[in-house]
Amino acid sequence: MARVALAGNPNTGKTALFNRLTGQRGQVGNYAGVTVERREADLVLGEGAVRLIDVPGTYSLSARSPDEEIAMRTLAGLDADDAPPDAVVVVVDGTQLERNLYLALQVIELDVPVIVAVNMADSLTSQGAVVNTEQLSAELGVAVVLVSALRGTGIDRLRTELEVVLQDPSRGRPGWRAVPSDPALLAQLDRLGEQLPAAWTEGDHEPGGGENRRRALALWALLSIDEDDELLSVTQALRTEVRTVGASLGRDPGEIDQTVIEARYGWIEERMPRFLTTKDKPARSLTGRLDAVLLSPWIGFPLFLLAMTIVFESLFAWSDPAIGAIEDLFGWFGTQVAAIVPDGLVQSFLVDGLLAGVGGVLVFVPQIALLFLLVGLMEQSGYMARVAYLMDRVMRLAGLNGRAFVPMLSGFACAIPAVMATRTMERQRDRILTMMVVPLMSCSARLPVYTLLIAAMVPVGGESNWSRGKLLAGMYVFSTLTAIACATVLGKTLLRGPKVPLLLELPPYRLPNFRSLFTTVFERSMQFVRGAGGIILVCTVILWFLLSFPRQDPANLPPSEPETELVSTSELASNALHNSYAGRLGQAFEPAIEPLGFDWKIGIGLIGAFAAREVFVSTMAVVYGLEDDEDEHSVRLRERLAAQTRPDGTATFTPLVCFSLMVFFALACQCMSTLAAVQRETGGWRWPTFLFAYMTALAWLASFAVYQGGKLLGFA
Ligand code: GDP
Ligand code: MG
Repeated sequence: MARVALAGNPNTGKTALFNRLTGQRGQVGNYAGVTVERREADLVLGEGAVRLIDVPGTYSLSARSPDEEIAMRTLAGLDADDAPPDAVVVVVDGTQLERNLYLALQVIELDVPVIVAVNMADSLTSQGAVVNTEQLSAELGVAVVLVSALRGTGIDRLRTELEVVLQDPSRGRPGWRAVPSDPALLAQLDRLGEQLPAAWTEGDHEPGGGENRRRALALWALLSIDEDDELLSVTQALRTEVRTVGASLGRDPGEIDQTVIEARYGWIEERMPRFLTTKDKPARSLTGRLDAVLLSPWIGFPLFLLAMTIVFESLFAWSDPAIGAIEDLFGWFGTQVAAIVPDGLVQSFLVDGLLAGVGGVLVFVPQIALLFLLVGLMEQSGYMARVAYLMDRVMRLAGLNGRAFVPMLSGFACAIPAVMATRTMERQRDRILTMMVVPLMSCSARLPVYTLLIAAMVPVGGESNWSRGKLLAGMYVFSTLTAIACATVLGKTLLRGPKVPLLLELPPYRLPNFRSLFTTVFERSMQFVRGAGGIILVCTVILWFLLSFPRQDPANLPPSEPETELVSTSELASNALHNSYAGRLGQAFEPAIEPLGFDWKIGIGLIGAFAAREVFVSTMAVVYGLEDDEDEHSVRLRERLAAQTRPDGTATFTPLVCFSLMVFFALACQCMSTLAAVQRETGGWRWPTFLFAYMTALAWLASFAVYQGGKLLGFA
């Protein structure tokens, strides 16, 4: 079956076009790293089906990020079992032609049959810009089709052109090169071309294709392979040859890189006026006018802070009714089950274990969905890219790559995709540095913990939502600052390295695509429910067991004195909890956490939270649920927490303890899945072990400082 690859810069609408062409629904969005996996589907053309491959979005093929390597391998067919595709559709954003055509030139140089799809035709129209596709086609020497993946226009033309090129590949291979015609460079490229792995050059049987392809691959090898590059899977022999050729050219590879890049851009720039007519573009100047404001440090930063404040305020204000409803529902369930199932172990397991644990976490789904919605809005509208641009200078100060900001922002949702999103970075050192600090960003699993503790600190109704929102926003600011500080320290010590310039595209502002936004929100929320649900279920069962055994026979307890007849069932339960396996575990653990202001019951929660942070909430629900009287099932966990007391009668969850606990959760590495993801991405246990150790140590020290410092200042 013929194979067709879909290539292009990130966010040019490849995935949208892929879906249009194959009819297969996939995720369409701006989330970095979404298309890292290779997606394939069948595309039915007139004659029969061809296989369509969605290639990771890249700005060029010559740099050294894993995404670019995957793209290059696919487009050039570098893997032995993977022939070059029979045709490549290069998707370019019509509103960003100058930048986007660069990749198109590179793919054409590879001498694979190419069709250029100029996407975003609708945006071009609304901007009053016109792309002369005939002229562009004449300049490039390949077919050019104007499409809108969003509106579905031009898709049939694209299919027709694809059929034509598949039947006569020479029409997509102009055999033309934009590489500078410096004879010395070409001679060296030809020499290096001889050394390329046999698997790379097997396509040479194509008429006239051999030389161009060889040169393009040699140039790519020259500019992309260097010694301390851990990412590329190339042979040592080739590495050595690349070094020799580089040296014999008598020029720094960086300099060659510069010449080649300038030549390609020069070619595009020179011809732009021939195929692009722009009216006095009103939409474009709107983007420009907005950027003049949003990107200026004096207005941009305060506006960003304001935007974030609004986000966190609404996280509380808008999700409150839904949270209350879910709490009531689970409370009602509990009462119902308690009414049906007789008192005893089974009832306790169902009500205090299962329902309390699962309900305690499900309650946070509205908030998490809202967080994903708001972050998605910022991503899709194009604002997120501006934030990354604004933050670049700050990132740089911290020794981080500017591209690190997007993974760090997605760390607000979850560290796992964020760790994967570091693949867009070129240097292994930048990737590891980013991975080491991304788990400090306040992920959505911390949200339930913060919310619960903040609710215990600032009771509902008592004060306005405003200060709860501020506390929450404060935790996010705290985590971001800590991440930046840790990056600075690590970047200057363990992970020293050179800084590389930021190549960041600022897409035009766009109205978000609400359907894909809601799909994304739904999918990510379900992921939370499934991920959290599974581990919480397991932990809840284990925990309930540890908490309920060994069983205490009330007969074995010392008989109560007549005057202390008020020794209630709840006190008995308290005793049982104290003597249970989990209780003993928590007490064994207590000396380590007492200086942080936590008692052994919180300790049980902390132990559970090392599997996943949300487990803390379900654990607390189970711990306090078992202890309470049977008819109190409907009491809300957040109120229960506020009512907890220590043996001496003082409140357990004082604001200082809550604060210390929040700081602990902000810093500790309590997520098995993140450690597993880092292990996968770095290919060893060294970095995940380091990550776990340093974050947990930091958490303990910071909580210690907060609690002891707070006590000294009289906040006990
Ligand atoms: P990819 O990164 O290249 O796969 O790009 P996506 O398919 O994820 O699309 C990026 C964004 O561009 C999404 O918000 C799409 O809705 C939007 N988009 C895609 N095609 C078009 C189009 O033809 N016109 C407009 N206006 N937006 C589009
Ligand atoms: Mg995509």
